[in-house]
Amino acid sequence: MRHLRQRIEEFLEHFQALFEIDGSIPKRFRKLSTSLSKQPKSEANAMIHQPVYFSRNTVQGGDRAMLTNLRDIVSTSQRNNSRDGITGFLIFDKTWFVQILEGDKTQVMETYNRIARDTRHSTATIMNVRDVEARLFPNWTMGGAMRTPEMEEVYLEHGVGSAMDPSRLKSAQIIALALDLQAFEETKRKGQRLAS
Ligand code: FAD
Repeated sequence: MRHLRQRIEEFLEHFQALFEIDGSIPKRFRKLSTSLSKQPKSEANAMIHQPVYFSRNTVQGGDRAMLTNLRDIVSTSQRNNSRDGITGFLIFDKTWFVQILEGDKTQVMETYNRIARDTRHSTATIMNVRDVEARLFPNWTMGGAMRTPEMEEVYLEHGVGSAMDPSRLKSAQIIALALDLQAFEETKRKGQRLAS
């Protein structure tokens, strides 16, 4: 894996050097090369700490209050995580939160401890913690997906029926679902950008 990553980085450096002759990198390669070059050098060989946890949503009120609170959580997360070098993904519905955090171990654990004390949810339960070689959500300081009818198909593909119960899921299922929700969100955003 590390070998493959190194080869991709070498290829991109070579590729970038080629195109920097006239100062332009083709648009479709820009995001990948930027996200790799943004990665701190010290992280290239460091392991990424990656806990997955779930908790019960205790946000009170109707849909509007719920959305306002969730927007607050996501925007605070993005602000803090960008400062702390943390990335990840948050899946939520009216009953549950499921979150994947990734980054430096100390920063991730400090963030998790802060999150666990938050009164907007309860009984935070860590499903799994592992150290991995590369981030799965490198472009998201905190991606978030509230379950909506338009993404029902993605949930069903992962065997998550009408009511999600994270306590019955494995962390690998959660990660696979989050990756597909991330792809779904990215495709939707691209469509919105093209339409505007
Ligand atoms: P502020 O945002 O200024 O908040 C100060 C204090 O008030 C904190 O203790 C905060 O918990 C509390 N607070 C703020 N708003 C409310 C409210 N509406 N109701 C109750 N208490 C409130 N933070 C991250 O940094 N990264 C994450 O990835 C992240 N993920 C989260 C996931 C979930 C499911 C939840 C519920 C929260 C998450 N948070 C995350 C928020 C986290 O719990 C802290 O609120 C936040 O990190 C504190 O940020 P701050 O120090 O800038 O304080």
